[in-house]
Amino acid sequence: MRIVLLGPPGAGKGTQARRLADSTGMKHLSTGDMLRAEVAAGTELGLLAKSFMDKGDYVPDSNIIAMIQQLIADPAGVLLDGFPRTVVQAKALDDSLEAAGLPIDKVINMSVSNDELVRRLSSRAICTECQTPYNLVSDAPSTEGICDKCGGDVIVRNDDRPQAIMNRMKVFNELTVPVLSYYKSRGDVAEIIATGSPDSVFEALTQAIGSVGHSN
Ligand code: ADP
Ligand code: ZN
Repeated sequence: MRIVLLGPPGAGKGTQARRLADSTGMKHLSTGDMLRAEVAAGTELGLLAKSFMDKGDYVPDSNIIAMIQQLIADPAGVLLDGFPRTVVQAKALDDSLEAAGLPIDKVINMSVSNDELVRRLSSRAICTECQTPYNLVSDAPSTEGICDKCGGDVIVRNDDRPQAIMNRMKVFNELTVPVLSYYKSRGDVAEIIATGSPDSVFEALTQAIGSVGHSN
């Protein structure tokens, strides 16, 4: 099964995708996590990516497509989180999957009001080791700066600073909202209101996916 998770920054795609991957055995492919790993490892791609990410801009399509292309036909099934983010990426995904004879089973759009997104992002912190997200207001790590799960450093991402947040919203509206229209014009987009608790959103998500069956 191949599922595309769409939604603005702060919608909770990463949180939900990790849970879904754990419960289904599908492979969680997060381009944001992959890019942060490249940045942390100081690779050439990481250096390039950082200059875009810190401002809240997208990394060029060609780099993203090259990074993920080999991974999307994983036989365990994939959960795409943060990709495709542009229509160019969506078309590249279609081409690769078509070449492999694999369909996209479901596109799921997670929507959250703008006010709530800004609230979430501006209090978000993340573990640099295992990528677990925290909310510094409502769900802070029990020891400041230390991940409850793995003991890694919990930091505020550069792109969760106020200036970058506003730019990410703008870029999302310009470049990713058209991706939603692209999939809607083909049908089969499930809409989920992602404002509730992580548990209730997960419930809605598994229901949306249940309707496409559990085969690979
Ligand atoms: P969020 O969904 O909260 O914005 P992500 O972790 O998914 O965070 O992505 C962080 C950043 O990584 C993005 O703001 C962007 O700079 C870059 N990025 C991730 N995925 C893509 C992509 N598919 N295309 C272009 N840039 C990407
Ligand atoms: Zn951790």
